[in-house]
Amino acid sequence: MSQKTLFVNILLPLPIKGVFTYRVPRDLENIVAYGKRAVVQFGAKKIYAGLITEVHEDVPQHEVKYIIEVLDDKAVVNDIQMKFWNWISEYYMSELGEVMNAALPSAYKLASESRVVLHPDYICDKDILTDYEFLIIEALMVGDSLSLSDISNILGFQKIMPIITSMIEKNWVIIEEDLKERITPKKANYISLSEDYQEEEKLKELFEKLQKRAYKQLEVLMSFISISGFYTDKKTEVARTRLTKAVDSSDGAVRSLISKGIFVQNERVESRLQSNIKEKNIEDINLSEAQDTALNNIISAFKEKNVTLLHGVTGSGKTEIYLHLINDVLKEGKQVLFMLPEIALTSQIIDRIKSYFGEHVGVYHSKYNIQERAETWKDVLNNGENSYKLIVGPRSALFLPFSNLGLIIVDEEHDNSYKQQDPAPRYNARDAAIFLASLHKAKVILGSATPGIETYYNSRHNKYGLVELNERYGGLQLPEVLVADVKRETRRKTMSSHFSSFLMGHIKEALKNHEQIILFQNRRGFSLRLECDICNWIPNCIRCDVSMIYHKHSNQLKCHYCNYTVHVPGKCGNCGSHEVKMKGFGTEKVEDELAMLLPEASIKRMDLDTTRNKNAFNNLLMDFQNHKIDILVGTQMVTKGLDFNNVSLVGILNADNMLSFPDFRSYERAYQTMAQVSGRAGRKKKRGKVIIQTFQPYHQAIRDVMENNYMNMYQSQILERRNFHYPPFFRVIEIKMRHKNSESLFYAANELADMLRQSVKVQILGPVNPMVPRIRNFYIKSMIIKLPRDSKLLARKEIIRQRIYDFKSSSKYKSCIISIDVDPQ
Ligand code: ADP
Ligand code: ZN
Ligand code: ZN
Repeated sequence: MSQKTLFVNILLPLPIKGVFTYRVPRDLENIVAYGKRAVVQFGAKKIYAGLITEVHEDVPQHEVKYIIEVLDDKAVVNDIQMKFWNWISEYYMSELGEVMNAALPSAYKLASESRVVLHPDYICDKDILTDYEFLIIEALMVGDSLSLSDISNILGFQKIMPIITSMIEKNWVIIEEDLKERITPKKANYISLSEDYQEEEKLKELFEKLQKRAYKQLEVLMSFISISGFYTDKKTEVARTRLTKAVDSSDGAVRSLISKGIFVQNERVESRLQSNIKEKNIEDINLSEAQDTALNNIISAFKEKNVTLLHGVTGSGKTEIYLHLINDVLKEGKQVLFMLPEIALTSQIIDRIKSYFGEHVGVYHSKYNIQERAETWKDVLNNGENSYKLIVGPRSALFLPFSNLGLIIVDEEHDNSYKQQDPAPRYNARDAAIFLASLHKAKVILGSATPGIETYYNSRHNKYGLVELNERYGGLQLPEVLVADVKRETRRKTMSSHFSSFLMGHIKEALKNHEQIILFQNRRGFSLRLECDICNWIPNCIRCDVSMIYHKHSNQLKCHYCNYTVHVPGKCGNCGSHEVKMKGFGTEKVEDELAMLLPEASIKRMDLDTTRNKNAFNNLLMDFQNHKIDILVGTQMVTKGLDFNNVSLVGILNADNMLSFPDFRSYERAYQTMAQVSGRAGRKKKRGKVIIQTFQPYHQAIRDVMENNYMNMYQSQILERRNFHYPPFFRVIEIKMRHKNSESLFYAANELADMLRQSVKVQILGPVNPMVPRIRNFYIKSMIIKLPRDSKLLARKEIIRQRIYDFKSSSKYKSCIISIDVDPQ
């Protein structure tokens, strides 16, 4: 009896076009199925785990290889996801393999070059190991890490991926890159007052006793009372370091109080991954009248529209509204996706969500280890009774195998961390969420105090619903925004370093009242460049056309594009003069100089340099929350979604460098950044203050922030966008070309531009040099294509894709790297 031969189409996690056909050996015929992973050889040596996208009997034209093995019992992706991937690939003009790479957790993306190491928690129990597992573990105990091809060699055969997969699942080994991302718990000592002294009478006695004999201890005790808010908040714990700092930075008195049994010390893990315990009920949230109206407006907008914008000022209580909407959808038995910008994904908001939805909440985050990511994936895929129903995550959470979404919330929808920059697919998660929701027939809420221009346009023109929430929760006022005129203060010589006397006065006032302060400076490093006063020579990076930034901490000049570092030159590299001065200032200088001006304050910095360690970001937030820090200086990291009770003052140190970017979004971005960071001020107790330092106090963007006038900003911008053919009126595609040789790049870029002009017949700007025209020795040209949003849009995109593909494949320009960015941010 003749049997038909089976073939499968395999999608590989590689930036190449299309799928590849392989033959199915007899013994795997009953196992192959759509959505499972199969191990295949690609090229001469490489082995990959790819996805089966089709099982068929069409005999290919040429001979094909057999698949080596099948890794899964069940499909790991579903049909809706494949549709979603296809859409991303088409819309963002990227290959399906690139989408697969972005979508799958790394545990699912095994390849012969993947490296594994022993899991740090692995405990040796040789009895339960199979012979192969034993060999692998032995080898890993000797060496540091092994690639899968190394392991193949050790075991003497190729079919090792199922063994590795099962060892990963059992937490015995881990993919090396994921190891680096594991989060270790942070421990800290907390001080509370002993039970014996909780009564006021007893406390008074103690005061009197200490006053006579131990004045230092009395001081510490008083600080404790004040910081813990003992008489008011009943918050009874204070971090030991904070207490030490509050007095005179000596720990002796604290130690004495502990040994006398007056203070009790507890070591606690400052947990980030809180347990999933439901503590509260949605029904217990009392929405304000304004919130209630907004909620009802959203619900009625959803009757006609699939997407609704919730435009609510900072602190208006958008989250509480989301919680209600989530609750309703969960009750219908559907899944909910709650998206947050990467940086705001702090324990703060997650704890808040978990306290209402408990064990139904799954967090999907690139910072969590491989295990959790793969587990969350599986859990969502199963979508059983006990599976997570509410997923909280950044843009990558869109790719989870949802089967039954009812609602997607995109919080802070204007945030540009929703846009993936590199590598392709350069998708915008906010926009992709809207497409994903349509596949599930789900609703989408976009929330922001400062919506993106395109989003606001869409809601004003009835594409989306629009619900406005103009007051803060609890009758709080929006902060008062004031301007410090740096030009005038410079003239009057009232600046201390980069701080105006106006801002300094307010900082001191806040410190005196035990209030906290956030200072925002959008550049990191110490100075922005060195410059020779005689000949204007500026030390640039040797690999990038950009000035190097001085970092005082390491006393080096560093390139922020390639991390190249050099020693600080003693004299000018051009004329030899010693008059080489620092120009401009970054967060490091702010921290440094402020520490000199305010020696008694606890000042910390939050930027890329201080948060490279994965725990550091959350640690800083926790320390700020617990008032171990008085002043937090930071880059845009401090602007996003943080909710602290005790911040009364926000300072924007240099508004001018936000206003001077040559980009059609710069005005919008400057407004959003200033309004968002302002929103961190005065969120619980009293009206906050914001002080903007600027040379241009009458600049319209600053006026708009002062008046909280989003509408004015929007209207001026939409006019410009219309006049100059930018989104939402035109679709913009940016093409970037890179080459080691500037001349070759010049010709290649012009040729591609001419070709596109002829074949697409639309406006193309460029090729031009971008702001940084060379990075890591690659010269860069960029061009902007503006496509009218008419019936020819899709056809034109297809032509562009095809032309670029042909161009790339022509041998002449093979060494030119081309990247396409649809809707660049
Ligand atoms: P937004 O996200 O709009 O900036 P939040 O949702 O963070 O504002 O709310 C601001 C603060 O007000 C939070 O601390 C929140 O707990 C509180 N809040 C908002 N609405 C309520 C409510 N209905 N009941 C109690 N607290 C609320
Ligand atoms: Zn010089
Ligand atoms: Zn560089």
